[in-house]
Amino acid sequence: MTTEITETLSNEIRPAAVQVHGVHKWYGAHRVLDGVELTVRPGEVTVILGPSGSGKSTLLRVINHLEKPEVGYVSVNGEPIGIHRHGERLKELSERVILGQRSRIGFVFQNFNLFPHLTALDNVAAAPLATGKLTKPKAQELAHELLGRVGLADKVGAYPRQLSGGQQQRVAIARALALRPGVILFDEPTSALDPELVGEVLAVIKDLATSGTTLIIVTHEIAFAREVADRIVFIDEGRIVEQGPPTEVLDHPQHERTRGFLSKVL
Ligand code: ADP
Ligand code: MG
Repeated sequence: MTTEITETLSNEIRPAAVQVHGVHKWYGAHRVLDGVELTVRPGEVTVILGPSGSGKSTLLRVINHLEKPEVGYVSVNGEPIGIHRHGERLKELSERVILGQRSRIGFVFQNFNLFPHLTALDNVAAAPLATGKLTKPKAQELAHELLGRVGLADKVGAYPRQLSGGQQQRVAIARALALRPGVILFDEPTSALDPELVGEVLAVIKDLATSGTTLIIVTHEIAFAREVADRIVFIDEGRIVEQGPPTEVLDHPQHERTRGFLSKVL
């Protein structure tokens, strides 16, 4: 099928950007994910809410196959992640296959996780260089462009220690974009920031959301969630308790646990 035809197909018949199929995850005897089913359409912005310890980070880590579920699996663009066509599990996959699959997913962490010894430019250029996707000049050109997009054109030569938390997180977002991923996962991207720096990071994420990038965002910023989310997913004790558009889940939660959680954070 040609690219042109694929792109004109409606969202309903294109494969899901991310599909989580019946995922269970244990740490020892502790069940952290309990039968999670989730479908994220291309271009959709999904916000995951839930109390601390409910499994939100674990779910993102399973989607990015930093963790392997005991039961179930994840597909990205219709292709199973962490499982080869022939059914071999993650540990049997070659590094090359894992890198290739992971490069289709961007991940932005709470604590930025930049390389301290690299400039902003080199932090962003590092991933497309490491995966062999781009030559050094092309990777640096892309890094310049992406740092401009997150409002840091004047900071390309700065090291992480010379940047504020908000600026570091914007470098991390540019870095996630550098692999041109099909989906970007955010795990509480603003919770390590001083309050006055939260807005600049949310503005960058909002810009991505309105430009059609598929995003899955774990956050406690409810006003932001209401603004950007196509869908809100509420998780408690490793289960999706309810999901729907913000006006449903935030204004008319059906489940007692959702109401209890929202009454504490709103
Ligand atoms: P959330 O992000 O919603 O706060 P997490 O996914 O981080 O929740 O954690 C869910 C549960 O799994 C918690 O009880 C946590 O203590 C436990 N957990 C997370 N990671 C590990 C790990 N590597 N080993 C053991 N337990 C873990
Ligand atoms: Mg977490």
